[in-house]
Amino acid sequence: MKVGIVGAGMVGSSAGYALALMGIASEIVLIDQNSALALAQAEDISHAVPFMSSTTVNAGGYKDLEGAGVVILAAGVSQKPGETRLELLERNAAVFRAVLSEVLPVVPEAILLIASNPVDIMTQITTRISGLQPQRVIGSGTILDTARFRSLIGRHLGISPQSVHAYVLGEHGDSEVLAWSSARAGSVSLHSFAEQVDHPLTEEIRASIDDGVRNAAYKIINGKGSTYYGIGAGLARIVKAIAQDHRDVLSVSIVTPEVAGVRDVALSIPRVIGAAGVMTDLFPDLDEQEHAALNRSASLLKGLADSVRL
Ligand code: ADP
Repeated sequence: MKVGIVGAGMVGSSAGYALALMGIASEIVLIDQNSALALAQAEDISHAVPFMSSTTVNAGGYKDLEGAGVVILAAGVSQKPGETRLELLERNAAVFRAVLSEVLPVVPEAILLIASNPVDIMTQITTRISGLQPQRVIGSGTILDTARFRSLIGRHLGISPQSVHAYVLGEHGDSEVLAWSSARAGSVSLHSFAEQVDHPLTEEIRASIDDGVRNAAYKIINGKGSTYYGIGAGLARIVKAIAQDHRDVLSVSIVTPEVAGVRDVALSIPRVIGAAGVMTDLFPDLDEQEHAALNRSASLLKGLADSVRL
């Protein structure tokens, strides 16, 4: 499958690098308003290919997207000093409007994969601007938060993250909800697994895992300015599910008719992903507290999305 990436900054190029190493795409096209950057990233990534796969990596213009099955949208601007979150959102909405007016005429059938932050709002805006079915406008959402959650639980229990089945729901951001009550290790509840291996999940351990998931991005940004490898691999993982029609269950963001009592809001819950995009939404069993937290997260996102002027 040919994959387009608009925005060849840190996130877009990391996604391209992960895709190239995994050999998922037959061809990758990188596009950026800074064409010298897109060219340099494409060259650099293409030099990794001979070691790992046979993907063709090029920089190009929008017309070069023709034939792409997925287009990753990772373009955006960063916050100016003194700028409010809403003002930033409006500037990023303007970027997306410009980008979509170029992308959609060339690949009206492509699945759009949104990486720019705040990803849930950008997903809602893209769905609104494009008029595409929500199942084909997918935000990376909490895919990375879920990976961090599984990794920290796995580390505590002494098992691989792949054997942990746990999801982070709602906003990719401060109001996200760690769904502890439905989490499993192998086929048993976390509580039971933790007792069986004699590594109990005390309140203290849970609080430190919660902090590790919720504040991971802040810690990385403090150390190196921004985060990109994790999300790059997460984006490649979503493309793999689409390109190979895997029907994987991943926590991603799309506009959803109703979540925790809030209507038409883009946020993450586990969803089945295949060649057509999102095939099925899955509503995990939540306890009362988690349900209330998901309602708060959904309400916050809905309020923010409604206040953006397009
Ligand atoms: P991130 O860390 O989120 O990847 P960057 O600033 O590194 O952030 O990358 C964002 C990229 O988006 C930049 O390379 C920038 O040139 C690009 N970009 C911004 N606006 C547009 C636009 N209208 N069209 C194409 N690319 C854009």
